[in-house]
Amino acid sequence: MFALMETARLESLHFAVDPLTGLQAIIAIHNSRLGPALGGCRYLPYADTRSAIDDVLRLAKGMSYKAALAGLQQGGGKAVIIRPAHVENRGALFEAFGRFIETLNGHYITAMDSGTSSVDMDCIAQHTQHVTSTTAEGDPSPHTAMGVFAGIRATALARLGSDNLEGLRVAIQGLGNVGYALAEQLHAAGAELLVSDLDHNRVQRAVVQLGARPVANEALLAIPCDILAPCGLGGVLSATTVSQLRCSAVAGAANNQLASADISDNLQARGILYAPDYVINAGGLIYVALKHRGKSLVAITAHLTQISRRLTEIFGHAQADKRSPARVADAIAERLLYG
Ligand code: NAD
Repeated sequence: MFALMETARLESLHFAVDPLTGLQAIIAIHNSRLGPALGGCRYLPYADTRSAIDDVLRLAKGMSYKAALAGLQQGGGKAVIIRPAHVENRGALFEAFGRFIETLNGHYITAMDSGTSSVDMDCIAQHTQHVTSTTAEGDPSPHTAMGVFAGIRATALARLGSDNLEGLRVAIQGLGNVGYALAEQLHAAGAELLVSDLDHNRVQRAVVQLGARPVANEALLAIPCDILAPCGLGGVLSATTVSQLRCSAVAGAANNQLASADISDNLQARGILYAPDYVINAGGLIYVALKHRGKSLVAITAHLTQISRRLTEIFGHAQADKRSPARVADAIAERLLYG
């Protein structure tokens, strides 16, 4: 276990069980150099404890990098609750998790993530103040979309020489909470939209409301366009899919878009500019972190401009050093986290 933690450069790992509610939870604090660790809580059925530990380690590290590049005084952490096959009282389980968080004295702040809702966060909030994205705080997705929109402009400027999106062809994979809000902003800015989603109703809505052109799911990645915006699941950029891309740049909301780190070099070799996912999709994190600190919506919106500034800085270094933007972003994050 210690070797695993050292490899991940993890600060601490915390476990809790509560037989009364069925809680089995793990909290990973990756790096708190810049502030208390903040990161979502997943509630998923894991095959075994090792898979849950692997997941929480990987995700906690990602949060440190994301918070550092977003200019937040926040460290990176993550929690997983192993979802039992049957749970008697979900509210009681999340309350028990709230008591667990409270024992860490503010070193970890939790938030909504896969499998959890703002109602679960409300249960946690009954026992600790170290929780964000409660029902009172609202959905961070619109802020993620605003950040991605600003990031697309920065990407267009760097790759195509202008941040005017009028007439730009943007292909969006996934029209969920973030993807649809992004599509609305792009439409308002005059972009031409090509869209796909596993849910046909979401595609239809974009066709009717935004004049988007529907594309079959399996064809979207290879569609000719200026910017490809992956806003569905992670892992969409593999050696195979990158060889099929016909876009100038990739800039979207999905987490962990690169199937592996070296795929960023494939994109670079093909002349496709890649906006590192954890930089461009940091709007939601900025929202929950600053909201938790009591900042106003005006201050939060102003902080979102960090995203395009940071991307422009990364693209500049990448061009000068002939390196992929993903590798430049990692290097900047590591400098901020480890000095
Ligand atoms: P969501 O679940 O609301 O929407 C995802 C959409 O993508 C769904 O409509 C789904 O049907 C579609 N989809 C999934 N796989 C697809 C495929 N192969 N082809 C076409 N469509 C597909 O999720 P969301 O909250 O909009 O988040 C989207 C992505 O952005 C996720 O990767 C998420 O981790 C990431 N992200 C979200 C936030 C946020 O604030 N919600 C913040 C940072 C990152």
